[in-house]
Amino acid sequence: MFVPRILNPPDMPILEGSVGVEDLVLLEPLDEDSLIKNLKLRYENKEIYTYIGNVVISVNPYQPLPIYGPEFIAKYQDYTFYELKPHIYALANVAYQSLRDRDRDQCILITGESGAGKTEASKLVMSYVAAVCGKGEQVNSVKEQLLQSNPVLEAFGNAKTIRNDNSSRFGKYMDIEFDFKGSPLGGVITNCMCPLPCSSPACQLCPPLLICFSRQRLPQPLGTTGAQGRIRAMCQVVSWTLMRVFLHTFPDLLEKSRVVKQLKGERNFHIFYQLLAGADAQLLRALKLEQDASNYAYLNREVSRVLGMDDASNFRAVQSAMSVIGFSEDEIRQVLQVTALVLKLGNVELADEFQANGTPASGIRDGRGIREIGEMMGLSSVELERALCSRTMETAKEKVVTGLSVMQAQYARDALAKNVYSRLFDWIVGRINESIKVDTGEKKKVMGVLDIYGFEILEDNSFEQFVINYCNEKLQQVFIELTLKEEQEEYKREGIPWTKVEYFDNGIICNLIEQNQRGILAMLDEECLRPGVVSDSTFLAKLNQLFSKHSHYESRVTQNAQRQYDHTMGLSCFRICHYAGKVTYNVMGFIDKNNDLLFRDLSQAMWKAQHPLLRSLFPEGNPKEASLKRPPTAGTQFKNSVAILMKNLYSKNPNYIRCIKPNNQQQKGKFSSELAVVQARYLGLLENVRVRRAGYAYRQVYKPFLERYRLLSRSTWPHWNGGDREGVEKVLESVSVSSEELAYGKTKIFIRSPKTLFYLEEQRRLR
Ligand code: ATP
Ligand code: MG
Repeated sequence: MFVPRILNPPDMPILEGSVGVEDLVLLEPLDEDSLIKNLKLRYENKEIYTYIGNVVISVNPYQPLPIYGPEFIAKYQDYTFYELKPHIYALANVAYQSLRDRDRDQCILITGESGAGKTEASKLVMSYVAAVCGKGEQVNSVKEQLLQSNPVLEAFGNAKTIRNDNSSRFGKYMDIEFDFKGSPLGGVITNCMCPLPCSSPACQLCPPLLICFSRQRLPQPLGTTGAQGRIRAMCQVVSWTLMRVFLHTFPDLLEKSRVVKQLKGERNFHIFYQLLAGADAQLLRALKLEQDASNYAYLNREVSRVLGMDDASNFRAVQSAMSVIGFSEDEIRQVLQVTALVLKLGNVELADEFQANGTPASGIRDGRGIREIGEMMGLSSVELERALCSRTMETAKEKVVTGLSVMQAQYARDALAKNVYSRLFDWIVGRINESIKVDTGEKKKVMGVLDIYGFEILEDNSFEQFVINYCNEKLQQVFIELTLKEEQEEYKREGIPWTKVEYFDNGIICNLIEQNQRGILAMLDEECLRPGVVSDSTFLAKLNQLFSKHSHYESRVTQNAQRQYDHTMGLSCFRICHYAGKVTYNVMGFIDKNNDLLFRDLSQAMWKAQHPLLRSLFPEGNPKEASLKRPPTAGTQFKNSVAILMKNLYSKNPNYIRCIKPNNQQQKGKFSSELAVVQARYLGLLENVRVRRAGYAYRQVYKPFLERYRLLSRSTWPHWNGGDREGVEKVLESVSVSSEELAYGKTKIFIRSPKTLFYLEEQRRLR
């Protein structure tokens, strides 16, 4: 029998095996403290998922739980959202079904801090989708692509950090495209009877197009009699086909700096260690590599292994995943060569030399290393050395070549390594996208999955945190606007009057950062492009001058409301009051990171290389393509990527997974409330609950509601032959719930306060 799983405030006895409230909308009292207590109580009982309406909060269990796999997928596929325990599968199911049945593109936004479980959640969504969408040879190969893209992306884009042994160092957005009636791809179209007439308002199963998607519930084949003894309508059952997977990453956000330097206790990207540990002697020889990771300057010498991670076997998995996706053997070989080249570049040692006129210059110390790199690149080592150790200044009239100092040459070498690697990563993403491109010209549906860093406050916050937090500020804006919109739409659909909800509009912070010609990013660009002496300090001075009166900007020279200066802030810092809290950014390095310049000599040398893949990564090195125009800055590129992402999200129906990290030790069963409360703030959970229950905290379709509570009224118990809505009215009248508390929608009953629901539960228990 149907049992809604919505209940149990913490102070009530446990019902149906549930712990705490499964939906925070029902929390009483509604405050931070009880929110965290509820999550903790559930976590300690291995209930890692909790809802806020249709948002799933997921607390990382740091242990395998027996709640995943085909059996569970099948279960969640057969039930509606509230019928089973909260789960990511329930959310994936709702998203998939609304995409299929309601003709709406969906997106699933997964946020949370590093190690909170975003990527694992995204994999659960993907495996759910792969399990429930159609079959067929081509579809299966797209499914493989969907699932196998993970190990490849993780090898090249993930690394061990102090916070997460398998931390994604890039933002990922994936569009999973489905094909409507995909006959060319073998979409399953069968016919069956539906017991309800399609025009019936009660038939939610038959949205437009006369398509019934109730295959699991109504499996009668054509020709048999309908459930109620006569044929009322004939519906087509369509299984949608997975058509294509399209990955967008945030290239400008791949943590390039990791390629050349890692913090204490951290590693470089996994692929380097996998390659060294997993390649056989022949491959190592071909790549001119030595197995021992400690031979490489770009690999942190103190940590080369991660507990529980088998680099060698992961290397084999990556190779096999690449071939399943469709990389040719030659492409895999070239990818590994470029990876090896990056490692070898790190071992290029530079030494002092002097030019004829006595000015300091640099040269390469170890001839063998540079020769090997040159051979692998297909470029003379003389040419490579020249590109690394000198710079050509070009004006319309002449070319002047100057030698670089050792420091400058080291900077150039590292810039080259970072650029080669990040461009290789982009190329791999592009190659994954290319592998299956079927355009049937049929109508498409899209499910987007976003796995992106959450709000970040470190001890020392720099340009990276600034852009990440900007992105989160924008995501919060989308979240509030779309949640409110969704609420409003539901009220409209159900014919219930809408009352305005007050909420904090963070548009003012977004503007402070992104406004054209006036925002912080625009000021940074202006400073980067300005001739004359520019530095991080001149940039900060500009900000201080422009924003000294801005309510969300603070610095050493701005005063707070009490007209006091903040002497605790560093001289080179500014602070932004984000929706999630105040963050102090140190401007040192902002200009350099925003410029992200690669000397033209280097890109031109790379373009001259005979190595086809390497060469293709540097199209701007082609003298015919060369332009004196500067490429867009990192900040502008990022802002553009965010704008595209936002446009994409606004066009879709959002579904949210909010991930929480329960402790900093990556340990199972340990829940730190102090840690969780900060994350709950960053994720805006309380605001979310508030918005969600601003009108009516609880709503339910009439039929299941009646099923649960009809025992409360003599009119409806033990028998009721009338309509569901009338039945609900009888029930609520008989327990004297005030009419202020209720609204009768077209298909659902709405209840204003959680207390009313608890009262109903209490009454039910007393019977
Ligand atoms: P980052 O931002 O650093 O990429 P993340 O939020 O993507 O972090 P994950 O890599 O998904 O974090 O999770 C970190 C680790 O936590 C996983 O490697 C896994 O060991 C564990 N974990 C996360 N979710 C689950 C889960 N549902 N079941 C079991 N273990 C999990
Ligand atoms: Mg991740």
